[in-house]
Amino acid sequence: MNIILKKGKEESLRRFHPWIFSGAVQRIEGQPEEGAVVRLCDWQGNFLALGHYQIGSITVRVLSFVEREIDNDFWKEKITEAYRLRLSLNLAENTANNTYRLVHGEGDGLPGLIVDVYADSAVLQAHSVGMHYARKAIAEAIVQVVKGVKNVYYKSESTLPFKAQYSDEKADGYLIGKASEEPVAMENGLKFRVDWLRGQKTGFFVDQRDNRSLLERYAKGRRVLNMFCYTGGFSFYAMRGGAELVHSVDSSAKAIELTNKNVALNFGNDPRHEAFAVDAFKYLDNIDGKYDLIVLDPPAFAKHRDALRNALRGYQKLNAKAFEQIRPGGILFTFSCSQVVSREQFRLAVFSAAAQSGRNVRILHQLTQPADHPVNIYHPEGEYLKGLVLFVE
Ligand code: SAH
Repeated sequence: MNIILKKGKEESLRRFHPWIFSGAVQRIEGQPEEGAVVRLCDWQGNFLALGHYQIGSITVRVLSFVEREIDNDFWKEKITEAYRLRLSLNLAENTANNTYRLVHGEGDGLPGLIVDVYADSAVLQAHSVGMHYARKAIAEAIVQVVKGVKNVYYKSESTLPFKAQYSDEKADGYLIGKASEEPVAMENGLKFRVDWLRGQKTGFFVDQRDNRSLLERYAKGRRVLNMFCYTGGFSFYAMRGGAELVHSVDSSAKAIELTNKNVALNFGNDPRHEAFAVDAFKYLDNIDGKYDLIVLDPPAFAKHRDALRNALRGYQKLNAKAFEQIRPGGILFTFSCSQVVSREQFRLAVFSAAAQSGRNVRILHQLTQPADHPVNIYHPEGEYLKGLVLFVE
């Protein structure tokens, strides 16, 4: 089935951008089902690319810029390519680390697909109807290609457009195998339980691995506050780094329970650690001089462009509280994972917060997402994680 683009709208595809918006479409030949593979052609009918068709503002997500079958071999080739990259990053087949992102959507040439690996299980998440229909073929390819992966769990109920979920059997569940009740995975030699059945995203925030390692190097002798701790990632790195005390805070009681379990898994009943289920803004009202290393890793304040202004105000308010109260000589790790907030906008919000506090602040590191979350150079929208490490005098 062919989708013919308006004259001139082939430009972005010639520069390998993987999306076609509805406004670029001249006409659709035939009646493709949502999720079908379609051929994109320029206004003169010349082939441009193959992709998944979807009803919505992004009409086609490109799978291939050459004409070929999108069959089992295609999925196997793409998963193999993605796996090779993780092997070269020393993340896969590494005894100290069996947690990594295997497929990062457009960054791996597979728009609409996320796959995270936790020990012998992969968690697959579809963000498009096309990937939803391809899920079984993708799962087969994963167990064939990725050494040690025996189970594939599908978790897409919250990420798929409404219709796809009901046109087929119930979305979430195991596609292949079944993991043990409380699976344990390992990141840089630290163990943690992942709850992909109930947890956020695919169960763990794999994207903070490198930033947690950096924090470990700064933790020695410090009094650490890990704000928005979720499963406690930054906390157990801080403990291994020799922190004097570590306080983990999250508004979700479930997150606090997971954090406590994970700390115990690595450090037993270590009195240096305590966790609190409290709202961040409340907790930060009263921490004057208590901490000299603070992590602020909030959820995305802006999920859409309309929410941008409020989000920037939120980042400013949050960071101001930390600047005002962190001990002299303190270090602040501050993040934004909102894709619509640019690096410059985030930095400006943090700058305003610093200015408001009147403290002397220097930037030590500018952080981003790790290499297993690659950014396709033709799709800059794929860059989302931003962080700053600041020294506060
Ligand atoms: N730093 C974590 C990931 C953070 S995800 C990691 O490395 O894994 C964001 C977390 O913020 C979620 O666990 C969510 O429960 C928590 N959260 C959201 N709003 C909050 C609030 N107002 N106060 C405290 N925690 C909040």
